[in-house]
Amino acid sequence: MSVTDRLDDKSLFRTDSFIDGQWVSGEGGVEVLNPANNAVIATVGDVGEAGARKAVAAATRAFESWKKVSPFERARLLMNWYKLIHENAKDLATLITLEMGKVNKEAQGEVIYGASFIEWSAEEGKRVHGETLSTPFPGSRGWTIRQPIGVVGCITPWNFPNAMITRKCAPALAAGCTMVIKPAPETPLSALALAELARRAGIPDGVFNVVCGDAPAIGGVLTSSSDVRMVGFTGSTAVGKLLMKQAASTVKRVALELGGNAPFIVMDDADIEKAADGVIASKFRVSGQTCVSANRIIAQPAIADKLVAALEARISKLKAGDGFASDTDVGPLIHMTAVSRVDKLVSQAREQGARIVTGGKSLADELGGSFYAPTLIDGADPSLDVSCSEIFGPVCSVYRAESEADIIKLANDTPYGLAAYIYTNDVGRVHRLSEGIEYGMIGINAPMVGAASTPFGGVKESGIGREGGKWGVEEFTELKYVLLGGVEG
Ligand code: NAP
Repeated sequence: MSVTDRLDDKSLFRTDSFIDGQWVSGEGGVEVLNPANNAVIATVGDVGEAGARKAVAAATRAFESWKKVSPFERARLLMNWYKLIHENAKDLATLITLEMGKVNKEAQGEVIYGASFIEWSAEEGKRVHGETLSTPFPGSRGWTIRQPIGVVGCITPWNFPNAMITRKCAPALAAGCTMVIKPAPETPLSALALAELARRAGIPDGVFNVVCGDAPAIGGVLTSSSDVRMVGFTGSTAVGKLLMKQAASTVKRVALELGGNAPFIVMDDADIEKAADGVIASKFRVSGQTCVSANRIIAQPAIADKLVAALEARISKLKAGDGFASDTDVGPLIHMTAVSRVDKLVSQAREQGARIVTGGKSLADELGGSFYAPTLIDGADPSLDVSCSEIFGPVCSVYRAESEADIIKLANDTPYGLAAYIYTNDVGRVHRLSEGIEYGMIGINAPMVGAASTPFGGVKESGIGREGGKWGVEEFTELKYVLLGGVEG
């Protein structure tokens, strides 16, 4: 079945870049694959450096008028976009499942989650306020104003091809910025469908541009052009560091949402069944391919064996399969390279004496796509790659630590600091542990933390800046201070 056969609204299937309100074809073609069967579902042209420059020029022109549109009118247009996304949620979720394999129910959840940032930002954009200041200068008045920072370059990953775009664009557009977005080559279809809906919503030409193609060429323009005042990036820490270096040449603001290696701490007073349910929800969503996925389960020894048994019972029952099948729990990984990488991590743990409790093998041959079996490891040494690196697959390991000091040390023993989870019913432990671990977001007896109203982001090498809430909109503004002298002669 072709992509358009699956869509109610076939005009949401777009394979050209969207620049200055026009669909622009590129050279050659990057194939988009369905990871559930590795079939080619689309070919998207590369607009390269020239396309990126054209988009930056369009966004620069559009900024002059968009920044002057009242926040109330911007909110109205954003809410048009929000409503269209809701009306087309089924098709948008279909595109996500097709191009990156996500279980369709989760894909529908992503579309609604992504849209919630548009609704929130539309409202929050009306509340971008300055302040009046006291000054030491006689007869003067001082105040601040917040203004949109300007053209924003936005580079996004494939694991949330819809929400990682709306989470940046909604606050940026609400604040009065214009955007040039480079989506991941694996998932351009979701980005282009969002552009089509933005067009229909009445968002003016040049305000929202999507350029597909060669990453270093497009990224080079977005990070080096002095017309681009900020780069927002979601992706790996390695690429984030590179873009930060490139952006230094024009002292651009950077907002970086990077990788994670989340600890999931289970204390001996916790409800073990609830903790096991929490691990499943955090770890196996998107087949473990989320930045906030629980990688390292740190359990106190008294309950560790019971937790391993509860996890084994759940993980061994998870069904891998095509994201469109109603009984699928875990979809494919993004491609076969990801399957090989995950298998290498598991094999190394096995060779070093860890116990593979369940799973531990590729299902690619069995299921005909980029599948890996949901896997639980026990007794891996914390120095192994499966503990130290971001797994980005359906694999987690249980580690044991007794004292709070050792638990905090193990949890912090990583360059990452994005999300962490703690299961305990002891309020003292809640405070001591959440203050002791170095993470930007902590879920206590809660396996998922992200929402439009809350600050999403990490510390250490997991990033800079926050998306969501009032903080998400502030990121896209400049604070200006004004002093008026001679008010009283
Ligand atoms: P990635 O390899 O870093 O790629 C992300 C984006 O950067 C893609 O569009 C990629 O395009 C582009 N890119 C790569 N090299 C570039 C360059 N030199 N110049 C400009 N753009 C460049 O990450 P990924 O594999 O797509 O995504 C997985 C990573 O994202 C994980 O580390 C995950 O933790 C992280 N993530 C973080 C968050 C968060 O909120 N903190 C959320 C989701 C994902 P090409 O593929 O064409 O190179």
